[in-house]
Amino acid sequence: MLAASIFRPTLLLCWLAAPRAARPEALFHSRDRSDLAPSPLRRATPIADLLAAQRFLSKYGWAEGPPGAGFAAPVPRGPRRDGPPEGPRGAALAEALRRFQKVNALPASGRLDAATLAAMNRPRCGVPDTRPPLQAVSTAPRTPPPPPGPRPKARPKRFLHTLLRAPAGRQPEDAAQAGGAQAFAKRTLSWRLVGEGYSRQLSAEEQRHVFRLAFRMWSEVTPLTFREDLAGPGAMVDIKLGFGRGRHLGCPRVFDGVGQEFAHAWRLGDIHFDDDEHFTPPTSNRGISLLKVAVHEIGHVLGLPHSYRAGSIMQPNYLPRGPAFELDWSDRKAIQRLYGSCAGSFDTAFDWIRQERNPHGDATARFSTYLFRNSWYWLYENRNNRTRYGDPLPILTGWRGVPAQNIDAFVHIWTWRRDERYFFKGNRYWRYDSDRDQAYTEDEQGHGYPRLISEGFPGIPSPLDTAFYDRRKQLIYFFKGSWVFAFDVNRNQVLGSSPKKMTEVFPAIEPRNHPLRSLDAAYYSYAHRAVFLFKGSTYWRVASAEDRQRRPGLPPNGLFPRQPISEKWFDVCDVHTSTLTMS
Ligand SMILES: [Zn+2]
Ligand SMILES: [Zn+2]
Repeated sequence: MLAASIFRPTLLLCWLAAPRAARPEALFHSRDRSDLAPSPLRRATPIADLLAAQRFLSKYGWAEGPPGAGFAAPVPRGPRRDGPPEGPRGAALAEALRRFQKVNALPASGRLDAATLAAMNRPRCGVPDTRPPLQAVSTAPRTPPPPPGPRPKARPKRFLHTLLRAPAGRQPEDAAQAGGAQAFAKRTLSWRLVGEGYSRQLSAEEQRHVFRLAFRMWSEVTPLTFREDLAGPGAMVDIKLGFGRGRHLGCPRVFDGVGQEFAHAWRLGDIHFDDDEHFTPPTSNRGISLLKVAVHEIGHVLGLPHSYRAGSIMQPNYLPRGPAFELDWSDRKAIQRLYGSCAGSFDTAFDWIRQERNPHGDATARFSTYLFRNSWYWLYENRNNRTRYGDPLPILTGWRGVPAQNIDAFVHIWTWRRDERYFFKGNRYWRYDSDRDQAYTEDEQGHGYPRLISEGFPGIPSPLDTAFYDRRKQLIYFFKGSWVFAFDVNRNQVLGSSPKKMTEVFPAIEPRNHPLRSLDAAYYSYAHRAVFLFKGSTYWRVASAEDRQRRPGLPPNGLFPRQPISEKWFDVCDVHTSTLTMS
């Protein structure tokens, strides 16, 4: 059975490679795969004795392995013992066991007990957890034996090329130790599920959907975008993904069958999934979620090591947690240390206020913050200080009846008598019906929307840069170039003193630290109890009444010095347009 499982994919690889020398990356996405006769699943050999445990500790970076044992060699059978051997080697092994036990929340006895064996047999990623400590590294060179069985002749595959170039004994995700780069230098990365690497368990479309979603989850929190490349030359694809069983895809690692190792990945390289595992789509509660494993392995490709923090997707073991999951705070911060955080301008920003009654019948105001850029919008969760999972979404789908892109401004006129929301673009404005969640097409008198700004807001120029409503003064501030127009919503006219220079209405607190003209957005934040002005990737906070009580010297509406938007509003990240409409 072992021989069959070694030869079968090899023959398949040869067959695939032979007729396609000229176009090595021919596509098989819609191919009927029923001609591939299913073969029985292999089961991973359970780790049950000291030698196997030693091999585990060596394979995953906890200790140096037993003499002559490369990580790709079959597991030898040895006498069953539960204590490490005597001597310095035994001491090093006990120490490795203790460290493994500690991070797995087990008593750090240094002895191979049943609980430790159970932890070693849990489903896990094939990337080593850690490097062996220096004192435990033997002076003997690590030379894994050549893989058994015939191998296909050199194929024009970038991933194989990369692996062959790697130093002998190179472990997955090892580029940093090999002196390679820590992170990709470019910001748009291409990926492909390779033609010979489709899983037999999910439909081809389902597999690609899961991978698109997994890449999108990382691009939601980094400046990276990911593009599926179906047709370009294989050598140009940054990240290749594939499923395989046993010896697979020309890889120096061998998959162990059902259980234990389910996938492995190379930093800045490729990802392989053990197709003997029961991978399931995100909608399933059973098996191993391909989405979770893919997100984890992509984390390795992007440069992240394993983490033992609760909640992190980079934990080495598979943790079933229901179908929904997201990248937690530690994952976001870890990847942003490598790639930076997302910076960018907004077209419009506003707090959307809903008035609700609490159980005692008192009216309370709830708010959500929305950020608009081009044709996308994000909901910002002020409580968690991050964008909502799954954002951005197209404006078209969330805000019916308003322009689908490049909205100039939003104001919410809110007085004792009025509760009205308006969007502005070009020389027109739209009124939005909060109850029906769509733009009005006409008012009570039958006059249609959208309308000209010059008619609804006399004296206000268009197109506008931005606007915000000051509820205390019952004024709308409209911004155009270097001018500010204060509009009295009760009299429906511009204040007699308007327009004024922006530097006069909102003076700089620190000399020459001012946007001067052409703002992108402005809004009153209920979370911060302050007005913010945005331009490019920076913001200015307007001094509030409380600020002036604390610092009486501050000018009214003074602008505090500029700050990067990305340091106050986290993870407002663009995604590739091909993944914009995914849920
Ligand atoms: Zn991993
Ligand atoms: Zn592999």
